[in-house]
Amino acid sequence: MQYVSTRAAQSAAASSPHQFSDILLGGLASDGGLFLPATYPQVTGAELDAWRKLSYAELAFEILKKFATDIPEADLRALTAKTYTQEVYKNARKDESAADITPLRVLEEGENGTRLVLQALSNGPTLAFKDMAMQLLGNLFEYALARQNAELNIFGATSGDTGSAAEYAMRGKKGIRVFMLSPHKKMSAFQTAQMFSLQDPNIFNIAIEGVFDDAQDMVKAVSNDLAFKAKYKIGTVNSINWARVVAQVVYYFRGYLAATTSNEQKVSFTVPSGNFGNICAGHIARMMGLPIDKLVAATNENDVLDEFFRTGVYRVRKSAETYHTSSPSMDISKASNFERFVYELVGRDSDRTRALFQKVETHGGFDLSGKPGSDGDEFKLVSKYGFKSGKSTHADRVNTIRDVADDYGIVIDTHTADGIKVAKEHMEPGVTMIVLETALAAKFNETILEALGEDAERPDGFENIEDLPQKFVVMKPDVAAMKAYIAANTGL
Ligand SMILES: *Cc1c(COP(=O)(O)O)cnc(C)c1O
Repeated sequence: MQYVSTRAAQSAAASSPHQFSDILLGGLASDGGLFLPATYPQVTGAELDAWRKLSYAELAFEILKKFATDIPEADLRALTAKTYTQEVYKNARKDESAADITPLRVLEEGENGTRLVLQALSNGPTLAFKDMAMQLLGNLFEYALARQNAELNIFGATSGDTGSAAEYAMRGKKGIRVFMLSPHKKMSAFQTAQMFSLQDPNIFNIAIEGVFDDAQDMVKAVSNDLAFKAKYKIGTVNSINWARVVAQVVYYFRGYLAATTSNEQKVSFTVPSGNFGNICAGHIARMMGLPIDKLVAATNENDVLDEFFRTGVYRVRKSAETYHTSSPSMDISKASNFERFVYELVGRDSDRTRALFQKVETHGGFDLSGKPGSDGDEFKLVSKYGFKSGKSTHADRVNTIRDVADDYGIVIDTHTADGIKVAKEHMEPGVTMIVLETALAAKFNETILEALGEDAERPDGFENIEDLPQKFVVMKPDVAAMKAYIAANTGL
């Protein structure tokens, strides 16, 4: 399996093929594009039938081996078996089976097979779906670094979910350190406690006196110093990482297979979306031949993606135009994985893709609506890929959390509420609609309290997390001091 960049010069694509292991530890391609397989591996009906009986870990192995062809199969099998265990995904609701890893729950069942189903992806250590991919990444990184006898220092900024998922995936891993910046006293007490209570010697929590953008700017400043980056082996784990995307493909297969009894049945997915990583994995599953009918992107007030899927206009927002909402992990100004889909939409033309995303930099977006003066008419092809969308507001979230508690007796988080609200607008007769549950309610308790007048239940072990001893340092947004801190703590 070879990988190409969405922006590769046509000549470069053929002359410098990349394998899975070549792109595992990196982010963007050197030309600024994103990696995708040169062609999608296809899945047959017979394979799908055989996969119905597999455990989650076995299914993950079967799918990953199609993409990671340069990792010996026995090693890959051991890595997936170690990652997808019920001990790691133990935060399932009391009436769910943790062994299912991503258990399904039928919320509504109508005439002739119309159903609304929730797929729980948030039962891992940080109670958000990012664990599904990040836990695998931790094990893959440790494996790859050991093979090369190398080290990696992961450096990033977080306002919540990504940073904690990365820390829980990398804690105690040989050859890896994590330096994670967060805005001092700006995260919720729960999120702060999740990260800062980690005592592992390879985890460094750095609270920056400022807002998230100050922390983000420091990451950019350090990453732009290429000599420093090379000397101190600095890397990232952001959502454009290909291995993260491919790990997410697995649960679309799992959801489909668990919701159906034959490959004739159609299933749609609604995905609470921000950076387009999660739903991009659904698109890849569909391109591999999984019988997905619709892929519905649900956004909050930050409706960059909804706007595109309604109009064909992709218009990124300025930071002043980005709303801080009660589903904060979807508060994005641009969708960093979207380029992977646009590349597909323009017929895998990397020159076109490069030009369109250069226009994002210079003009803040592009227009594929086909109207006079637009940049193309590929919007008309969007329906061929099954994409639909919708948006939701704070009031919608509060109402949906209340309705779901009343109607189905479970408490969902704010991001999942965006998903349910939008899914209900796209239900079709005879089709199962699966909504991906991207976090557990305990993580976003403030809105639960507002909607239900009571606290969200916490999984076992999280009851007194705020009282645990915390390990972190506080720093001013000073790049030189940051570099000195990394240098002192890496021993390089
Ligand atoms: C990250 C995140 C999302 C958005 O996922 P993308 O892959 O960025 O589209 C949605 N919900 C929760 C809870 C998240 O943590």
